[in-house]
Amino acid sequence: ATRPGVPPQEAATHCPYCALQCGMLLRANDGRVEVLPRQFPTNRGGLCQKGWTAADLLDHQDRLTTPLLRDRPGGELRPASWAEAMDRVVTGIRTVQEGHGRDAVAVFGGGGLTNEKAYTLGKFARVALGTRHIDYNGRWCMSSAAAAGIRAFGVDRGLPFPLADLGRAETLLLVGANPAETMPPLMRHLADQRSRGGRLIVIDPRATATARQADLHLQPLPGTDLAVANALLHIALTEGWIDREYVAARTTGFDDVRRTVAGYWPAEVERLSGVPVADLEATARALADAGSAIILTARGAEQHAKGVDTVTAFINLTLALGLPGRPGSGYGCLTGQGNGQGGREHGQKADQLPGYRRIDDPAAREHVARVWGVPADTLPGPGVPAYRLLDSLGAPGGPRALLVFGSNPVVSAPRAARVTDRLRGLDLLVVADFLLSETAALADVVLPVTQWAEEDGTMTNLEGRVLRRRALREPPAGVRSDLAILADLAARLDAPARFPTDPGTVFAELRQASAGGPADYAGVTWERIDRDEGVFWPCPDQDGPDTPRLFAESFPTPDGRARFHPVTHRAAAEEVCDDYPLHFTTGRVLAQYQSGTQTRRVSALRRAAPGAFVELHPDLAARLDVAEGDEVRVVSRRGELRAPARLSPTIRPDTVFAPFHWAGAARANSVTNDAVDPVSGMPEFKICAVRVERVES
Ligand code: SF4
Repeated sequence: ATRPGVPPQEAATHCPYCALQCGMLLRANDGRVEVLPRQFPTNRGGLCQKGWTAADLLDHQDRLTTPLLRDRPGGELRPASWAEAMDRVVTGIRTVQEGHGRDAVAVFGGGGLTNEKAYTLGKFARVALGTRHIDYNGRWCMSSAAAAGIRAFGVDRGLPFPLADLGRAETLLLVGANPAETMPPLMRHLADQRSRGGRLIVIDPRATATARQADLHLQPLPGTDLAVANALLHIALTEGWIDREYVAARTTGFDDVRRTVAGYWPAEVERLSGVPVADLEATARALADAGSAIILTARGAEQHAKGVDTVTAFINLTLALGLPGRPGSGYGCLTGQGNGQGGREHGQKADQLPGYRRIDDPAAREHVARVWGVPADTLPGPGVPAYRLLDSLGAPGGPRALLVFGSNPVVSAPRAARVTDRLRGLDLLVVADFLLSETAALADVVLPVTQWAEEDGTMTNLEGRVLRRRALREPPAGVRSDLAILADLAARLDAPARFPTDPGTVFAELRQASAGGPADYAGVTWERIDRDEGVFWPCPDQDGPDTPRLFAESFPTPDGRARFHPVTHRAAAEEVCDDYPLHFTTGRVLAQYQSGTQTRRVSALRRAAPGAFVELHPDLAARLDVAEGDEVRVVSRRGELRAPARLSPTIRPDTVFAPFHWAGAARANSVTNDAVDPVSGMPEFKICAVRVERVES
């Protein structure tokens, strides 16, 4: 902690929470850490409530400062020394691997870890544990957009242009995105866009804070975005608004898409989605008429068992209109977690190695193995996506031990009760965290780690801009950085590679490992990040340019062209029926973040958003005899959640909504469906069938 009497110190850093990575200045004075907003291109001097209060957790009473151990199943966690805790972890890993093989130990990472930690965690899994089983919670964030981007453009960078381009788009279409609540400072860019006469159109089943600011709000039935996108392209084709020159010169596969969308008659799509034909036509015209237009998707469109195809449908639309690569135009995805972008580039994903390389690519394996100093044939092959991994824990042939870094799947996993049972059945569960999350509370060993203001490192924001995270102060006694923990474990496990603990040294190694890959950091240095307000990848050469805008000349595909893919609408994995007649969807509120482990402990945020709620249309509430504030039960085939009813005309009468930040009886993911997208592994968080009942007092 900072000490009274020591002169104030400052650190120019970034918010620990979401992917906007707002610039902030930390100031230490008389033992307190103050947060001040800082001018940075993403937030332009703004912070949301979460950023303003981020320092409240540094000295929070719940902060873990000593390892915790559970001596026997069902026993209590007790404080332990680091030596005892690490012995227990290593003994547990060895016992499980000797009995059941190397893949019997799995690793689960997080999209909030720095690039250096994400990189080291992937290396630790492949080299020190020799397991193929590693994945991370970012799989549940924007894996569908990532897969669609790679399929169409040959690369996945959330925004292939700087955020400031939003302000230059004549038409901006947001699909399942609510930045007014999830990333409020981003709205400054939208305000720019509006002040220049731009049009904002929002597609969302709820009239969110963002949708209420739009010129046009399309309110489809959840799960029908893909059909809406195909109808927009159908209209553009019918009206002759396709950019034929662009399609011919820069893309392949349009004919198949043209044939597919021919069947998406607007009147049919109106019947399916509830979006009036006139609104579909107005949206298509606004995109086609504009000199510049951007379509952005977020979790509302992506968290479906057809999420990859839904994003693909919107990418098809942008390609047909000739948008990607044009100034102020294109397709992008609003990443959620702080390092959601960087977290998926450095090897935390089951199928990838650093530099966003495929783990099944022999050349990629050779390159990365050389950097790590191990034979390429010792690197394991691809693992399985996050939910499949968690659901296989303890099953015959599945992992029997799990190491969790920076994630809380007990709250954030779909069908969370089942995942909780899987975790309970493990031979060994180790959680590294700075608070006792709901997952940590189940662990056999809890390892207390540093917080963002206590460590250097880099993050990569939603624009693909690599940023510096700077330490302001020393961590409290008893706490270790994730890098130190992984290095210590690797040494105890006799890993055949070095695991540096200094973030600068790790970053230098990461640059080598990424060199030549799609996400090439070879030319990114900390000094350059400081000088240029971040560096956009790819940046292969220290003396060469970085790449704020992708696709201006060509796409990183074998023939340099973007690829259309025909996609068709299909029903949600679970449809409504007599027993479960309502659609259920989930999302976020302004004052809370992700599984709430952190923000639920910040008193100002708790006051602003004290608990979960179930949002219902007043007409539906009247039918169910539910009044504002009544306790209701939302029941699906997998479980239920209980929370007070909040009546709002901003939601469709056939749909109910709950935020996913709370645990216990109010856990929204007790209800959600674990059906996953076959390409990305993204669970269908955004739609399942439920019934709602008033709880009799
Ligand atoms: Fe932090 Fe995101 Fe809020 Fe910015 S918008 S202050 S990055 S939580």
